[in-house]
Amino acid sequence: MQDSTNPLVNTQVAFQDACRALGLPDAVYQILKEPRRVLEAHLLVRRDDGTTATFPAWRSHHNNARGPYKGGIRFHPGVDQNEVKALSMWMTLKCAVIGIPMGGAKAGVMVDPSSLSPRELEALSREFIREFASFIGVDRDVPAPDVNTNSQVMAWMMDEYGRMNDDADIFGIFTGKPIPLGGSAERTEATGEGVAVVTRRAMDRVGLAPAGARVAVQGYGNVGAQTARFLAARGVRVAAVSDVGGGLWQPEGLDLDALDDWVARHGTVGGFPGGTAMTNRELLTADVDVLVPAALENQITRDIAGEVRARLVVEAANGPSTPEAQEILFARGVQTVPDIVANPGGVYVSYLEWVQNRGGAYWSRSEISARLEQAMTAAFDQVWALGAEQAVDLRRAAYRLAVQRVAEAMHLRGWY
Ligand code: NAD
Repeated sequence: MQDSTNPLVNTQVAFQDACRALGLPDAVYQILKEPRRVLEAHLLVRRDDGTTATFPAWRSHHNNARGPYKGGIRFHPGVDQNEVKALSMWMTLKCAVIGIPMGGAKAGVMVDPSSLSPRELEALSREFIREFASFIGVDRDVPAPDVNTNSQVMAWMMDEYGRMNDDADIFGIFTGKPIPLGGSAERTEATGEGVAVVTRRAMDRVGLAPAGARVAVQGYGNVGAQTARFLAARGVRVAAVSDVGGGLWQPEGLDLDALDDWVARHGTVGGFPGGTAMTNRELLTADVDVLVPAALENQITRDIAGEVRARLVVEAANGPSTPEAQEILFARGVQTVPDIVANPGGVYVSYLEWVQNRGGAYWSRSEISARLEQAMTAAFDQVWALGAEQAVDLRRAAYRLAVQRVAEAMHLRGWY
């Protein structure tokens, strides 16, 4: 049998399960099972050689009952409308779990950014805004970076939006911006920092002491590298990491400073001399205490789930495990912290960036970190308590908590 790898269908099933458990009227599920609207565009970019290329792009607005739409922009060759819709649904859930007054959105552009020159990447970023400007706005929809986009992409997008709108109130429209353009301290680190906070909390709950514990991190991009760094700072040994260029194993713990230096020079962890090479599958089934998938969707499938040796899986990526794999892990007693509880640190600090932009006053790194730690800890504890009270896994508990909050806002607005 095949795994269910359609993220939209999987998310709809989870929403339905939560709505039923909460005894909500069917109208709630009917509203939540699809985004309120999706805009599709075909972005035109003039290549450096004078030819024109087109790239399909989508922005999905899932739900804004609790506040303006919020969500990242992904540049990836494998992205499609279904994935963008599912990602926007997860944003609704994450904002509700972490308790910020925002709703769920996401964008994807079907493009391999490594095939673009820097000038073409800038042209694509600006074209995205020309096509999607009517969808976004400081009180309407606030985008941020995601896979293969970063603060530079946000800077170009903000500038393009400003040129189209007489530079009116543009700082609060995008988050994940560079610091000189109204970016927040700690935004780059936030997702991984939050993953590390929740990992430590979950380790406590399952009786794993940090000193000497080993973690494997799949994906050494923004989230994976920051998670590794924050866990290492808390005494955990980072024994395995991987990216598209290869995987590494060092049971005593990798030297992360030397590794980051290597990645800065070679663009991948592959070939780093401070560890032995390992495959993606070997990493996922490595002899570690904690496994952190921090790459893309559907990495832990049913045939891998049966071999996972970690006692704890913390989903830093969005949707890294299939529903079949989740059931197998649960049955085997492997505790899983789901994505919507593990990775909202990024959107939480994005929210703080938006608040700072609108208030015109800025907080220090330590103030942001303290707020982040408090919000992540509170959300994790609430989900843990609900899971224990209702005797369900943390994913079901998190969906119930989030759907209940969104449903309450929809009811107060008179949507059902
Ligand atoms: P990124 O592009 O910076 O990094 C992705 C990493 O995954 C890269 O190192 C890439 O080489 C690696 N990778 C891709 N496919 C792989 C594979 N098959 N095996 C091993 N490694 C692989 O992206 P990111 O921002 O770090 O995002 C990673 C995940 O976290 C995504 O699911 C994203 O949606 C999610 N996320 C990101 C943020 C954020 O703030 N950036 C917030 C919440 C969730």
